[in-house]
Amino acid sequence: MGYSYQDWKTRAESISLRGQAFVDGKFVDAISGKTFDSINPANGEILTSVAECDAADIDLAVSAGRRAFEDGRWSRMAPGDRKEILLKLAALIRENLEEMALLDSLDMGKLVSDAVTIDAPGSAHFFQWYAEAIDKVYDEVAPTGPGDLALISRVPLGVVGAVTPWNFPLDMATWKAAAALAAGNSVVLKPAEQSPLSALRLAELAAEAGLPDGVLNVVPGFGATAGQALGLHMDVDCLTFTGSTGIGKRFMQYSGQSNLKQVWPETGGKSPNLVFADCEDLEAAADMAAFGIFFNQGEVCSANSRLYVERSIKDSFVEKLIERANATQPGDPLDPKSKMGAIVDEKQTAGIMRFVESGKSTANLVAGGEQVTVNGKGCFVQPTIFDDVKHGDPLARDEIFGPVLAVIPFDSEQEAVEMANDSIYGLAASVWTDNLSRACRVSDKLHVGTVSVNTVDALSAMTPFGGMKQSGFGRDLSLHSLEKYTALKTTWIKYKP
Ligand code: NAD
Ligand code: MN
Repeated sequence: MGYSYQDWKTRAESISLRGQAFVDGKFVDAISGKTFDSINPANGEILTSVAECDAADIDLAVSAGRRAFEDGRWSRMAPGDRKEILLKLAALIRENLEEMALLDSLDMGKLVSDAVTIDAPGSAHFFQWYAEAIDKVYDEVAPTGPGDLALISRVPLGVVGAVTPWNFPLDMATWKAAAALAAGNSVVLKPAEQSPLSALRLAELAAEAGLPDGVLNVVPGFGATAGQALGLHMDVDCLTFTGSTGIGKRFMQYSGQSNLKQVWPETGGKSPNLVFADCEDLEAAADMAAFGIFFNQGEVCSANSRLYVERSIKDSFVEKLIERANATQPGDPLDPKSKMGAIVDEKQTAGIMRFVESGKSTANLVAGGEQVTVNGKGCFVQPTIFDDVKHGDPLARDEIFGPVLAVIPFDSEQEAVEMANDSIYGLAASVWTDNLSRACRVSDKLHVGTVSVNTVDALSAMTPFGGMKQSGFGRDLSLHSLEKYTALKTTWIKYKP
């Protein structure tokens, strides 16, 4: 680490990019021969062409995964041996940290300095965490009494399809694959078309670590073709998804139309951040409120995009936020001095700007509000704050998935909680107060998967992550994630007591 801007640029020029699909242990073209371009949103340049897989390729990958599962080359390997291979993978990710970070930065515009300190080490850590866990999880024996031995074991499901978004390409692939693989499944991963490169390199590193052929397949392609084929496949046992709520609903339908595969959707969010006047460290609250919406260009499912501030401190708090927003201007993602990177693509940028433009007539724009370029190129949006947003305004209701904060004043704890809960989403929330009873009381009442008190976006391998309401269900991370990728099996043995 300690890379300079010039170091990253030099490295980016010489990086080798893998654009073929990874199926049954080999890089292959799409059967159709088709490709699509992988674009760098920071400068609009084509990085490489990528195999455009569709239903035929998904079929091949699923059958490779099925063969591997049935012959037991991974699924029946002792957990302690699976552990060694996944630990090796974690080590290889660490050895290639800069490369992995650069792949995500180039592909979707995040700051390389974040990718190399957060995303890539996170991926290694999560693989290591599940590797270490898997030979320490015990199953059950039912209390039947003599003459009967009833074993309750957790068994892998078979072929797990994983469909992931572009905002944390490597980490979302990892959250799904690390747990599903640790449990003994085969995986067919369809990364987002905007950012397939790190997942392809991950599959190659997994093979180098000793993961047997066919156990992890990465099949890039578009949602409506490759993604749908995976969702509808008759031989996929489980579909784990992170992405938008609309597509999460489609995966439930695909399941109903096909083989009733388990579906685990982790979907959108519009997370509220509640700042009470009795919070002692309002500077820290302002730092984290800004981080909560501007980190990763606001392209975070749990982004704290609704800020509810007690009216008595609202104006002074917004002043602090404006200072921080103005100090977080976008720059080249490869420049370690940049504070914010590029938006993933032109479509997403246009979508964000539609919210910003209509917000200019419904709320009070106090920071940002413009699309900009860096060195005359790319998709960038200024960190943007709207004050005095009305409850029910699209700015306060819809997931924008960009660096746009809606500030809403409140007069009472009850009103704050009611507004916070009045959302179709329930992924995460934050509460800032030094009154312990209030912190507990408010946390109790918030219908979300994670409440962060006096911080934002609390997250670790040790704690489950996922939503309530239309933010989806099922949990990533922690041992609970293994529940998604295993089934309970009863084996009842009669013996002569
Ligand atoms: P998206 O739903 O459009 O795409 C996600 C994935 O689904 C991609 O791989 C895409 O190719 C695939 N897909 C798209 N259309 C499909 C279809 N018709 N059939 C099958 N697959 C299809 O989401 P996005 O815009 O790429 O990502 C942003 C969304 O992801 C936001 O809504 C965000 O909140 C959500 N997200 C949620 C979490 C979480 O953990 N809850 C984490 C990150 C992102
Ligand atoms: Mn891209």
